[in-house]
Amino acid sequence: HDYLTGLPNRQSAIFHLSSLLENKSSVSLIALDVDDFKGINDSIGHAFGDAVLIEIGERLDRMMKKMDIFASRFGGDEFLLITSVVSPEETSLYVNRVRQELGRPFLYNDQVHLISTSMGVASSVNGEYSAAELLANADLAMYACKHSGKNKYAYFDSTMKNNMLKKNEIIGILQRSCKEDGFEILYQPQVDIFTGKVAGFEALLRLKDHSYEPGQFIPVAEGTELIQLIGRIVTQKVVRQIAKWQDSGIVPLPVSINFSSRQMADTGYVSYLQGLLRKYHVAPQMIEIEITESILLENNDKAMNLFADFRKIGVGLTLDDFGTGYSSISYLTYIPVEKIKIDKTLTDTYLQEGKDDFIGILIDLAHCLDMKITVEGIEEQNQLSRLQKYGCDYVQGYYFCRPVPEDVAVKQIVYSIK
Ligand code: C2E
Ligand code: MG
Ligand code: MG
Repeated sequence: HDYLTGLPNRQSAIFHLSSLLENKSSVSLIALDVDDFKGINDSIGHAFGDAVLIEIGERLDRMMKKMDIFASRFGGDEFLLITSVVSPEETSLYVNRVRQELGRPFLYNDQVHLISTSMGVASSVNGEYSAAELLANADLAMYACKHSGKNKYAYFDSTMKNNMLKKNEIIGILQRSCKEDGFEILYQPQVDIFTGKVAGFEALLRLKDHSYEPGQFIPVAEGTELIQLIGRIVTQKVVRQIAKWQDSGIVPLPVSINFSSRQMADTGYVSYLQGLLRKYHVAPQMIEIEITESILLENNDKAMNLFADFRKIGVGLTLDDFGTGYSSISYLTYIPVEKIKIDKTLTDTYLQEGKDDFIGILIDLAHCLDMKITVEGIEEQNQLSRLQKYGCDYVQGYYFCRPVPEDVAVKQIVYSIK
């Protein structure tokens, strides 16, 4: 038994589960995890954390006496419930009963507290899974809840397992690529809409030897600390590339680098960038950092300080993906960006007959705030002429050029300065 709650412990839960499965009994597991338990401990204290676990233990123990449930404390703030109920209707009834029980207020030091939990459910009919497999499935379902906002429950399905395997494969590829120079940068021209000349490039990351695209591997990197290392690798490659262009007598053009919100944790990034610019004799105006508004959601004060640091070293700031998130106009009034990039999803929806005034108004709005505007994802001539009509500043899209390797990109620079 577990010393704190008095419930059966992990060992006895596994023993119980294994014997049920060996007898080919049908079993459902409910992996239950308290949401933000670390926060509960940190904010109200460990004594309260312990009291919560004890109270959960008591409530589960009472349920165990009334229902077909074997409840155990699996470790930390995780509980494992085992039942022979496997039909979806009955299991959801059970899960909802547990949620109801644990949703009741917790009284501690005369104060009322509420907690929430995430639960993953996995079933095995006639011994189809081993104990280890079934536990892993319930855990995956529980983590799926955590990732989709907590305070809910989910049933295991095989796509969860495939996603996890894919994610692990991508993490392995990214780790190797960091060590073995497995990344390359493509450069997509950003065209000045009036002169038609290339005004700069966006640096877009690719894996040299794998077909995973940034849309797949960047979110995985963002879920780990790898994004910080990758962010630095991209930055170094870009600064070195600009230096190479300079050394070969080409007047370089500014390059935008995407900066993920999760890179805020890399507190040394700004000085790293500044160090590179000095080492390679590249002017800070040659770099634009593309941020997204999600950076403001993480920690507004910290983000504003970071923007000030970027400004101090002289690099440009651009707001990327406008139109995909909250697209807050209030943010636009106080974040120190010089440029806004309208996302392709907005372009696709609105840059057409009868709807394009909206894009025109966004362009006016940016100009009123003294900002330039880049429209992304331009694939057709008619989109370009609409933007010309509205006085847009820059466009980026397959209509002009896809992201290309540096030796192809350089021809665009030469062309643009002729
Ligand atoms: P983003 O920063 O919004 O980059 C623009 C994306 O739109 C690029 O996709 C680009 O290839 C694509 N694109 C540009 N014009 C067109 C067009 O006309 N049609 C279509 N269909 N697509 C167009 P990509 O390279 O796949 O990158 C996707 C996203 O991955 C980027 O979106 C960015 O958020 C992220 N990403 C790429 N490289 C990096 C990086 O080095 N660091 C970080 N943190 N994120 C990166
Ligand atoms: Mg971008
Ligand atoms: Mg974008």
